[in-house]
Amino acid sequence: MKLLSKITEWRQIRSELTGQRIGIVPTMGYLHEGHVSLVHQAKKENDIVVLSIFVNPLQFGVNEDFSTYPRDIERDSQLAIDAGVDYIFTPEVEEMYPTPIRTNVKVNEITEMLCGASRPGHFDGVATVVMKLLQIIQPHNAYFGMKDAQQVAVIEQMVHDLNVPVYIRTCPILRESDGLAMSSRNVYLSADEREEAPILYKTLQWAVEAISQGERDVEQIVKEVAKRIELSPSSQIDYVELRQYPSLDIIQRVEGKILLALAVRMGRTRLIDNVILTV
Ligand code: AMP
Repeated sequence: MKLLSKITEWRQIRSELTGQRIGIVPTMGYLHEGHVSLVHQAKKENDIVVLSIFVNPLQFGVNEDFSTYPRDIERDSQLAIDAGVDYIFTPEVEEMYPTPIRTNVKVNEITEMLCGASRPGHFDGVATVVMKLLQIIQPHNAYFGMKDAQQVAVIEQMVHDLNVPVYIRTCPILRESDGLAMSSRNVYLSADEREEAPILYKTLQWAVEAISQGERDVEQIVKEVAKRIELSPSSQIDYVELRQYPSLDIIQRVEGKILLALAVRMGRTRLIDNVILTV
């Protein structure tokens, strides 16, 4: 495994990798098994796997956790070696943004609701950095987790609209044994909050069961999900929404492919989770 921080270093390596399939797994580091599952998928489908680790300032709001986001490159390197990563690309902010950025990628409409509503500009930052990483690494395949279902919809849209020559591959959400979706931010949770956090997935599962029993009324499902989450004293709901996927269109009745997504604050931690169903 080789650790790279300069774009020119990778460009040199890339120019010698003719005929090999390259997969990229973009991350912000502080790796967990969810990230590792993306690497495993990438290993199956490519000759070379590049893991990028970059905490992207563009996708953080002014009062968000950019400066405190957990970072541990030594631990990440060991996990990457164990997972079979060939290259870690971990540029400094100055390498990715050497001068003030005057060009960005903005995907319209589907970036404005759900996480985009509470984190204005977040998906412009995501789309821009992913586009830069795709231009730099020039992979055949790029791997993303369904934990960030809206992010996947945004990136698929960008790649489609701008004819980016890459296949977007997605992987299911990896969870702790009590159902909490794995996230680098879970380390922020206090002991009490960590105990309460599985309520998110439990409630999503309740909704899946209700839908399988025939419930189709979106308003009713959303109301009941919110009520159940509010029973946990640490939870402050950011949103609970049920929409068509991947269009993210508003719906009144559950039909077709749907996304039930939520964001909940527990103390200083903002947790997201979702399920996708086809009815
Ligand atoms: P992050 O480092 O949080 O930006 O995540 C990097 C990639 O890993 C994104 O594509 C995420 O969707 C994915 N990811 C994060 N958590 C999980 C998880 N629990 N299961 C599967 N993929 C995940």
